[in-house]
Amino acid sequence: MAFPENQQKAARAAFGLFNPAQGVHIFSREHSAEQEPIVVEVAPRTWFIQPGMVNVGLFETDEGLVMVDAGCAGDGPSLLRAVRSVSDRPLHTVIYTHGHSDHCFGLWAFLEAGERPEIVAHENVVAHFRRYIKTAGLNGHINGQRPGPDGRRWAEQESDFDWPTRTYRETLELTVGGEPFVLRHGKGETDDATWVWAPERRVIAAGDLLTGYFPNAGNPRKVQRFAEEWADAAEEMAALRPLAVITGHGDLAVGEEELQDELTTLARYLRHIVDHTLRGLNAGLMHDEIVDSLEIPAEFRNHPRLPAVYDQPEFVCRNVIRRYSGWWDGYPANLLPAPYAARAREIAALAGGIGALVDRARELAETDLALAGHLAEWAFWADRADPDAQAAYVDILERRAKQQPGLMAQVGLRWSRRYAEQAAR
Ligand SMILES: [Zn+2]
Repeated sequence: MAFPENQQKAARAAFGLFNPAQGVHIFSREHSAEQEPIVVEVAPRTWFIQPGMVNVGLFETDEGLVMVDAGCAGDGPSLLRAVRSVSDRPLHTVIYTHGHSDHCFGLWAFLEAGERPEIVAHENVVAHFRRYIKTAGLNGHINGQRPGPDGRRWAEQESDFDWPTRTYRETLELTVGGEPFVLRHGKGETDDATWVWAPERRVIAAGDLLTGYFPNAGNPRKVQRFAEEWADAAEEMAALRPLAVITGHGDLAVGEEELQDELTTLARYLRHIVDHTLRGLNAGLMHDEIVDSLEIPAEFRNHPRLPAVYDQPEFVCRNVIRRYSGWWDGYPANLLPAPYAARAREIAALAGGIGALVDRARELAETDLALAGHLAEWAFWADRADPDAQAAYVDILERRAKQQPGLMAQVGLRWSRRYAEQAAR
């Protein structure tokens, strides 16, 4: 991991969560987590629970439990055990911080055990559940999920979801056990986000608006993310001066001053990227020029709680570009391009054959893997059955993946490696 010493702890916390064995819990109720959840008492009658790759917040009141998020499908049984290890009160209310599968799909275990909570979420969660049904195949491909034994994909029909029973738009104040819980709508990784403020405990359950590492605001294969509103939400949270924030992933965040620093730095970091991108767009720069000229001050890049372990600044920059402009990158050849394979064959012919491209790609790989990646890609697409081109391409993709500190970049490169390996079969 190419992270400075002071970021190693946060990077390890995040990497530990995203191991591939944990990933299967997202999709399947049958894949129960092997270890028991981590349970930390954050404040009186308030717990941070980490059943696997995702975190859950639990608030006990005299009227029952308020639970923020419900883990992955496979986390359900162990999450239920963890909740019951600290309280035997009924589950009064569940709040989904957003509609992603790692936050909503463990609730089935509570419902099967006879709990009948109110399920509260932002109104966009319902729209996104419908979208997941519409794009179940696409999401399966992106998330590397195979269909089940019956040929069914995860979340392809309405009965696969535990739907919200109550939705809201901007803000909603619940009173449970005589105590207020303030739900605020935010946008960040998604536009259906809720964060929860328990003023009497001075605790926030933030969902993925705070994760203990650089925000997932640029994910290359997912729908639009919202960097500016993410910064707004972080500032709104900071203004309340919480003593603890139950994060959506990664380590728990505690300490009034530490949280002021973390939340305000996160906001300034995102605004720095957004401002740079808007300046470039307004100046009429090419998209690549905007990304290539992005510089991140050391204050942000080396912040102990903001390592770019998952997503990374360049991807956020591209996501801001996408938000404010179209899909065209500005190169006229890319507006109505010739098929990629035709271009690759022409380049290979010019180079003196696929073999020449492969040789140069391997040579360049010693000094510039990014440039080598372009040459290997042309060689591969010039003839996907050419074993030398395929081998060089696979090799360079894997070396690039190993070099990348961010998980999204690694996943994208390894997805391409598998595609290349399968193409020649
Ligand atoms: Zn999440």
